[in-house]
Amino acid sequence: MPKGMVNRNNPTLFETMSFTQYNFIRLRILPIAIAALILVHKQTFAQQANEKFKWPEGKSFGLSLSFDDARLSQMDGGAALLDEYGIKATFFVVPADVEKRHSGWKDAVKNGHEIGNHTLTHPCSGNYPWSRHKAIEDYTLDQMRTELVESNKKIETLLGVRPILFAYPCGQTYVGRGANTKSYVPLVAGLFFVGRTYRDKIANDPSFCDFAQITGIDMDNTDFEDILPLLENARKNGQWVVLGGHEMGESGFQTTRVAMLRKLMEYALEPANGVWLAPIGTVAKYISETRR
Ligand SMILES: [Zn+2]
Repeated sequence: MPKGMVNRNNPTLFETMSFTQYNFIRLRILPIAIAALILVHKQTFAQQANEKFKWPEGKSFGLSLSFDDARLSQMDGGAALLDEYGIKATFFVVPADVEKRHSGWKDAVKNGHEIGNHTLTHPCSGNYPWSRHKAIEDYTLDQMRTELVESNKKIETLLGVRPILFAYPCGQTYVGRGANTKSYVPLVAGLFFVGRTYRDKIANDPSFCDFAQITGIDMDNTDFEDILPLLENARKNGQWVVLGGHEMGESGFQTTRVAMLRKLMEYALEPANGVWLAPIGTVAKYISETRR
């Protein structure tokens, strides 16, 4: 039979169908079959991603609490609240503010809290009026390097620890402006084990995250109920949640609320919830070793 001609003695399946049957398959069955295939593919992919990372025995996800700027309230009751529950946190400090509560900070280090670098002068975008005279838009990478190195030296002199962790002030990771803008992430990657950003919307995937830019989720001015879905999602997906706050108190501007923290710590200490609550450096070290 010449190529291209239909053999009427052996009709194909589609040739035996009525026009209505053909349209039913084309318009109803096929789209459902394609959607089902996509769903199966997505679920398999998600399972593969989740199965890659193994948290310590009995733990389903990681949680780290961090507090920035060495605000006075952190030493005027905040650290004591954490100590009440035996919880260790990470504090990203500016040396000049450590000096305002020097003995308190020394005690915090003795009690096992972790100290990180948060630059010398906390430079952010000049869009913040208080940062206009030290705007990162006017910074160079060399200036930033000097800030980071000097801050580490001062923290070591004040507290006897040399930070290997860093939090980007205002969560901003660049210096300069326009075509001359440069990321200072590579600088942080060279000087520190971990760099934490801020006001992110997603937790870290331990099998993938970049230690130079781990995500930090804002916990200021939130209730525990606001944070719970994030924790439940992290438990389901085996993520590492890093929370970031500023003041520690009952309420107020940029304040991590005592009531929220109490509920959060109680949740974390309940073994059935499978939370591994530990400082950023401890979790990052575990992740780094487990990945290897
Ligand atoms: Zn800050």
